[in-house]
Amino acid sequence: MKILIVEDEPKAGDYLRQGLREAGYSVELVTNGVDGLHHALEGDHDLVILDVMLPGMDGWQVLRNLRAQGRQMPVLFLTARDQVEDRVKGLELGADDYLVKPFSFAELLARVRTILRRGRSGMEATTLQVADLELDLLRRRVSRSGKRIDLTAKEFGLLELLMRRQGEVLPRSLIASQVWDMNFDSDTNVIEVAMRRLRAKVDDPFEPRLIQTVRGMGYVLEAPEGAR
Ligand code: CA
Repeated sequence: MKILIVEDEPKAGDYLRQGLREAGYSVELVTNGVDGLHHALEGDHDLVILDVMLPGMDGWQVLRNLRAQGRQMPVLFLTARDQVEDRVKGLELGADDYLVKPFSFAELLARVRTILRRGRSGMEATTLQVADLELDLLRRRVSRSGKRIDLTAKEFGLLELLMRRQGEVLPRSLIASQVWDMNFDSDTNVIEVAMRRLRAKVDDPFEPRLIQTVRGMGYVLEAPEGAR
């Protein structure tokens, strides 16, 4: 899941980015309204977290522009304390929710999860399944043959990507950008290491193997014939 944060206060922005990444989301942070609008229009974010008071273009204008251009991704507003009219205005303009500063990260995360769940309702399955492997997007749980498997946030993100695009060979560069938010650097073996750990949990104790390495190309997850 991709989240765009538009927040001009460096401390707050870094804090949100860090926390949401640790929670397993792919996060982009920009610090003014003009960049915010541009990134939101260009990208395919599942959620935009938008501060109201921003240099260049305020949060209202960003939201108004997004909606005027037909972009319907959910928007969570961050407003200052006691600005009740802000909330009303935000909701009228088509914001999905708002949080009053200061808020706890746990509160933000709960809102984010609720919005993302709502955003998906009826449009997309909340469970991904390949053979006997199941990934529950809402409860963020994975099981195979009914046995619960504990994954780290990164491993979960990696498996989610592989399952969403089952049968497709995913190059390392794509995995790096989607799961780690980084440009692929061939010197790093972070993907190989994570993939080995993921396989040790998801494939090694079971039959058949679902994750395959395609030499020189990348990785693919699929059920072999007969196991589908
Ligand atoms: Ca601000």
